[in-house]
Amino acid sequence: MWPVIGQPKAVSLLEQSLERKNVAHAYLIVGPCHVGKMTLALSLAQALNCLSGKPPCGECPTCRRIAGGSFSDVGVVGLAKASSDDSRAKTEISIEQVRELQHLASLAPFEGRCRVFIIDQAERLSLEAANCLLKTIEEPPAGVLFVLLTSCEEALPATVVSRCQRLEMRPLAAGEIENALREKNIEPERAKLLSRLSRGLVGWAFSAVSDDSLVVGQLEMRDRVMSLSGGGLLPRLDYAAELAGLFGRDRRKANEVLGIWRDWWRDLMLVKLGLGNAVTSVDRTVELDEMAAGLSLEEIRKFIGDIEMAEAALGQNASPRLALEVLALNIPEGRNG
Ligand SMILES: [Zn+2]
Repeated sequence: MWPVIGQPKAVSLLEQSLERKNVAHAYLIVGPCHVGKMTLALSLAQALNCLSGKPPCGECPTCRRIAGGSFSDVGVVGLAKASSDDSRAKTEISIEQVRELQHLASLAPFEGRCRVFIIDQAERLSLEAANCLLKTIEEPPAGVLFVLLTSCEEALPATVVSRCQRLEMRPLAAGEIENALREKNIEPERAKLLSRLSRGLVGWAFSAVSDDSLVVGQLEMRDRVMSLSGGGLLPRLDYAAELAGLFGRDRRKANEVLGIWRDWWRDLMLVKLGLGNAVTSVDRTVELDEMAAGLSLEEIRKFIGDIEMAEAALGQNASPRLALEVLALNIPEGRNG
């Protein structure tokens, strides 16, 4: 049993290649952060080394050790694993890290059948590291598999992408995550809220079960987005400046905030269309109803378009402050505050 929730396409492709003993030398798993790329990569490593007749069983000593990160033939390389004598935050996976991998890859498996090297955030490979890796994935030693994970395929050299078998992981439907949470005995109300807030990212939903700060943080950001509509212009400009600052420091986080904007306004559209059961903000249905009543469908649709334009502008390195100010000033006022 693959411990992967959803993703039937990626899983069945891997199952078929295992059955036909036709596993690629290198896979590239593409998908947003927290969608479950590492889980899929580790499951593949388990499937290749599992001791049971039904790989990956998840139960045998090998499967357990791979899941626990203590199996010597399965290695994970990424920014976090960079050398500890350098206190600066790593921004690249270095050529030294790749050379070390190549050395390990040249050795026979130590205790398993197949050595698996997982490269997390592969888009962070420095150009020389990527070129160096290229040679190994073109002609890999026998019994060695590379699995590259990325949320930003465009940032990888095309030469690397073309040498890998590509597996795409997509966000799941809220209902799938809700069911998975309920199977783990999470109470129905909480499972519903977490699944909606997760935006289809199963890893986020399961982290949020044990880390309430994730939920609180997300709800606070959402409530600020909600309150901006009723506020004056100055709070909006302050907010835009703050978000532009965040964008400068942490692009991913700022994009996440814009995702919260999109969800809130999508919720308003759903309410307007009479599809209130499908909203993300299941804890704010009263506010959604009130706000939707003061807006026309046209206004809501137009503003969703504005959010998408702002996201596109930020993606193209436009001035973040200007793009976000325009967005904040465009929020429709509504007729009943
Ligand atoms: Zn097993």
